[in-house]
Amino acid sequence: MNERTAVIVGAGVGGPVLALWLRRLGLSVRVLEGRSGPALAEGAFLGVAPNGLHALAGLGLATEVRAKGHVCRAFEFLNHGGRSLGGFDRRDDERQFGWPLTMVRRSELHALLSEAASKEGVAIEYGRRVTKLTDVGEQVRLECDDGTSFDADFVIGCDGLRSATRTTALPASPEPSFSGLLDVGGFARVKTLPFEPGVNVMVFGVRGFFGAFTTAANETWWFHNGPGEVGSVTNEGLRARLYELHHDDPAWIRELIDATPTLLGPWGLYELDAMPAWSRGRVCLMGDAAHAMSPSAGQGASMAFEDALVLAQCLRDVPDVPRAFQRFEQLRRPRVDAIMKAARQTSNGKAPGAVGRWVRDRMLPLVLPYAGKAQARAYSHQLDFEQRLT
Ligand SMILES: Cc1cc2nc3c(=O)[nH]c(=O)nc-3n(C[C@H](O)[C@H](O)[C@H](O)COP(=O)(O)OP(=O)(O)OC[C@H]3O[C@@H](n4cnc5c(N)ncnc54)[C@H](O)[C@@H]3O)c2cc1C
Repeated sequence: MNERTAVIVGAGVGGPVLALWLRRLGLSVRVLEGRSGPALAEGAFLGVAPNGLHALAGLGLATEVRAKGHVCRAFEFLNHGGRSLGGFDRRDDERQFGWPLTMVRRSELHALLSEAASKEGVAIEYGRRVTKLTDVGEQVRLECDDGTSFDADFVIGCDGLRSATRTTALPASPEPSFSGLLDVGGFARVKTLPFEPGVNVMVFGVRGFFGAFTTAANETWWFHNGPGEVGSVTNEGLRARLYELHHDDPAWIRELIDATPTLLGPWGLYELDAMPAWSRGRVCLMGDAAHAMSPSAGQGASMAFEDALVLAQCLRDVPDVPRAFQRFEQLRRPRVDAIMKAARQTSNGKAPGAVGRWVRDRMLPLVLPYAGKAQARAYSHQLDFEQRLT
């Protein structure tokens, strides 16, 4: 039995998965989560990429995520007039990469991951927001806003975009930067839509970007990314705002907005500039805390799943904890940087103005085949926990 105690800060997407890997190493693990319970709606739903599912497969979780979700078979890009600008066929992904791109409700993904952790004896301690970290000899002391404190042999910050682990352990880190885009999402049922279930339809609208995916159960999951300042529109004012932004886009977008009982959001979309370092001594960051990226690549959660596996490998194979954290960063940075760059480029194309639209409508059909290949390259990344690091 390994005597070390790890504290994980944050039970979002990556925290429970890391906890499961660390249990495999025989470590004693505590997970401190600032929310009062498992529900986390932000983003409404997400796509777990084949590489993300592959990273979960060693824990037996890929099959479960797939069973809760819906497989995406294709991407189709439309301009504001509803004209197709091209797309990607993703029907062969499962054969090629072992797993298909799977769309899943965020609330279901959270429930699944936290239940899996608790089955392995990892209790997620809700209502414990970490506020401060201090080095105490060979240990790290964590203080929470409920007045409790804990000592740990090492700490992993899985506490997302606004990570307190990052700001206290690595105070020279950059602040998240706002993309200028707000995200809204929803779930609706509309009888006739001009696309098939299983296709991710992406519309470059006149004033905003709109994505829709219809499940096999004929429910359409959608999101909007459009210009706006954080705090400039409340949830009550959202329907009118979305209507206005998509006024000149295909009519089915407004039908979907009308048919949505509850609009989720708005949330500002942020990303983190490259961090000078992901760890300091016995404190390390992973997932969004280390490298929050634009959701446009659909890879943020999958990056957190990959991080969790590699971090556990490093803690298994590199005897000294601070060195294990450095090795983790060295192994992960090139991949994460490449994905972040692609995400930023996609995000920049979402609200380009009239001239940009004209250029995009002509350029996109030419560049899409390359984008499809880049997506496939990202999907093809396969990690094996059993492989020893030398
Ligand atoms: C609108 C939107 C759509 C997205 N779509 C996709 C997609 O399709 N595919 C994809 O792969 N990714 C997507 N992402 C990105 C993805 O959600 C993130 O990359 C992923 O959730 C990162 O996981 P994480 O565990 O690092 O952080 P999170 O999932 O954000 O979890 C952080 C957790 O830490 C907790 N916490 C924060 N501070 C503290 C504290 N001080 N003490 C204790 N707990 C704390 C939070 O409450 C939260 O539970 C999307 C993101 C957004 C915003």
